[in-house]
Amino acid sequence: SDVQLDVITIFPDYLAPLDLSLIGKARRDGLIDLRVHDLREFTHDRHRTVDDTPYGGGAGMVMKPQPWSEALDHIAVGAQSRPILIVPAPSGQRFDQATARELADAAHLVFACGRYEGIDERVYEYADRDYDVRILSLGDYVLNGGEVAVLAMVEAIARLIPGVIGNAESLVEESHEDGLLEYPVYTKPAQWQGLSVPEVLLSGDHGRIAAWRHQQRLERTADRRPDLLPAAAATQSAELEIRL
Ligand code: SAM
Repeated sequence: SDVQLDVITIFPDYLAPLDLSLIGKARRDGLIDLRVHDLREFTHDRHRTVDDTPYGGGAGMVMKPQPWSEALDHIAVGAQSRPILIVPAPSGQRFDQATARELADAAHLVFACGRYEGIDERVYEYADRDYDVRILSLGDYVLNGGEVAVLAMVEAIARLIPGVIGNAESLVEESHEDGLLEYPVYTKPAQWQGLSVPEVLLSGDHGRIAAWRHQQRLERTADRRPDLLPAAAATQSAELEIRL
C-alpha cells in the first residue's frame, strides 16, 4: 500500500464507516492500508481499565498512560519510517485544508482517539521518541471522543491521496484550496419548482461562466466567511505575480 493509517480507540466500531464509499474502495484497491486497534487489547487487568481519576482533583476521568505506550510501541515496532502521531484534541492547533494537504504526503499516520478528559500528558512526551506528534483540533467545540474527529480528518486527508478520487481536477476548484469558497452548483432540470438555473450557465460562453463563478466565489466568501478574504487576496495577488 502507498499509505499506512493506524487508529487507536476504545470504540473500534466507530470507525466502521471507513469501509464505505471512496475510502473503502481505496482500501480495497490497496491505496490505503488502514488498521483499527482496540486500546483495551493493551490492558492487563480483568476489567481492561483504560481510565483513572485525575491527579489534582476535578471532574471526570483521565486515560491511563500504560495502555497507550504499549499500543504505540506495538505500531512503531513494525514501522518502515518515522510515523506522524495525530492526537485530536479541542486544545490542539486547528486542522484545516492546508494541514490535510501536508498530511496526505506522509507515508504513515497514526491517530490516537482520546475519551473522557483526555490522555495523560506524559504519553505525548513518551511518543516523541518514535513519532512526530501533532495535536490537532477539528474546531472550537467539544466532542465526546476523538473518533468523530478522526473520521473527518481521515476523510479530508485520504481524498487528497493520488488515486483515491478518480477526477483529480475536482479537487483543485474546491472551497479552501485557494482561500475562496466554491461557487454555487446546479444540475438538470433547468426549471424546477418554479426556480431556474442562472441564465449564464446555459449560455455556453466559457469566459462569461468563469467570470460569473469567480464573482460568486468572492460574494459568497464576503457574505459567509469574511475572515477568509485577507488570505484569499494574498493568494490571488501571488498568483497574479506568477502570471506576470
Ligand atoms: N477536557 C478536554 C479539554 O477540555 O480540552 C476535552 C476532552 S473531550 C470530552 C474528549 C476527547 O474528544 C478529546 O480527548 C479528543 O480526543 C476529542 N475531542 C473533543 N473535541 C475535539 C475537537 N474539537 N477536535 C478534536 N478532538 C476533539
